[in-house]
Parts: sequence; structure tokens; C-alpha cells
Amino acid sequence: MAKPWAASVLTIFPEMFPGPLAVSLAGRALEAGLWSLETLDIREFGIGRHRAVDDTPAGGGPGMVMRADVVGAALDRAIAGAPELPRILLSPRGRPLSQSLLRELAEGPGAHLVCGRFEGVDERVIEAKGLDEVSIGDYVLAGGELAALVLLDGVVRLLPGVVGAEASLSQESFEQGGLEYPHYTRPRSWEGWEIPDVLLSGDHGKIAEWRRREAERVTKERRPDLLGKNKGGKV
Ligand code: SAM
Repeated sequence: MAKPWAASVLTIFPEMFPGPLAVSLAGRALEAGLWSLETLDIREFGIGRHRAVDDTPAGGGPGMVMRADVVGAALDRAIAGAPELPRILLSPRGRPLSQSLLRELAEGPGAHLVCGRFEGVDERVIEAKGLDEVSIGDYVLAGGELAALVLLDGVVRLLPGVVGAEASLSQESFEQGGLEYPHYTRPRSWEGWEIPDVLLSGDHGKIAEWRRREAERVTKERRPDLLGKNKGGKV
């Protein structure tokens, strides 16, 4: 059997994992060995009796910063166990997480995911260990753990064998560049709302054309910035 996709998470809150990823698709895939999860408690590498992982910012200012020596030692341990994995730091300063980045990661062997806390991580460790900073959006969370869970949820569903009807993945929002068309299911009539006739016509050509046009309409209305990013499919 192929080696499972390896998630290696460095955090001061290992109890947050697998968290919501223990249920549903991701949970079943974890049990089935389609991906693996290892957490490394950064506090194990902390300084002194209190295992301190942070200190005051050089130059003054508010908050605390995660120490380079502590995070660096934790990373060294993780990297020694799996040197082939890319190293990601979840960070609001990072490049935005996208469907194409999720695909790129899913096609690789896994990832080391460093979860920041406090004001973030000492810049030297980011540079010295070649951490690739990734953001899940233009807002600030209290820590990188939820961001890592978001990234993992997005990757795991792309792994072979995780989603039953894999063809459906290629139809989704962002896969072709734009947003997806609207979906409907039974009942045919609900509180006076009807399913569009074309979807009940059985004419697959017309249905495909309607979906293409609807995807284009929704994308133009909601995310015109995506229109130039079409990869030749939906929009
Ligand atoms: N001082 C930092 C700044 O202004 O960019 C914010 C630090 S935040 C309170 C603590 C940690 O949460 C970060 O180091 C990062 O790991 C994580 N985090 C917060 N927002 C994030 C986001 N949008 N994407 C990814 N990680 C995030």
C-alpha cells in the first residue's frame, strides 16, 4: 500500500488535533490509513521549569513572540523524522491558501505545519528553516491551529479514495477558475419553489450549457476577480 499523506503538526495545543477531522470523510480516511497525523508539542522544547516557548519582542512593543531556539528545536525534530515534507508556517502574512495550493500539497508526500501563537514566530526561524508562510484569509486568528485544520480538511478530501465520486471534485468552485453552478434535489416543488425545468428535461447537452451559464453568472455577480482565472472549463 502507498505511504499515507503525512500531516506533521507542530503546536503548543496538540489536543486540538485531529479535532473536527476525526469525523466524517477525513475521520474515515484517517482510520483507513489514507492520511496520517502526528503532532509535536512545541512546549516539550520549552525553556526552564515552566517550559517557556515565548518571550518579549526585541525592540519593545505589545505581546510575546515564539522563541527561535524553541520552535527551531521542535522543527529539527520533526524534519529529522520526515525531511521530504514541505515546511509551512500558518501566518496571516503568508501567501493566500487556494484550491491550486491544496492540490499541489495533496499531490506531494504531506507537510510539516507550524502553528504560531502570540504575536507570531521569531523571523530568524522562518528564514533559517525555510518556512513557507500560508494564510487562510485576511483576518487574524488567535493561533495557527484552526488554520492548519482548514488546510488539512482541504487537502484530505483531494486525496485518492477519500471522496467517493471523484469526478465531482473537478466540477467544484475554483477548480475551473470560477464559482460553481447552483444545485437542486428532491422534492421537485418546495414551499412554492420549483427546480428549473431544464434540470428535469433529461437533455444532458442543455443541462451542461445551463450549468456553464449559471456558473458564469454567479461568478460575475459575486467574484468578478476570478473571471480572468478560467482554466478552460466553466467560466
Ligand atoms: N501578529 C501577527 C500579525 O499581525 O500578523 C498575528 C499573530 S496571530 C494572533 C497568532 C498566530 O495565529 C499566527 O502566528 C499564525 O500562526 C496564526 N494565524 C492568525 N491568523 C491567521 C491567518 N489568517 N492565516 C493563517 N494563520 C493565522
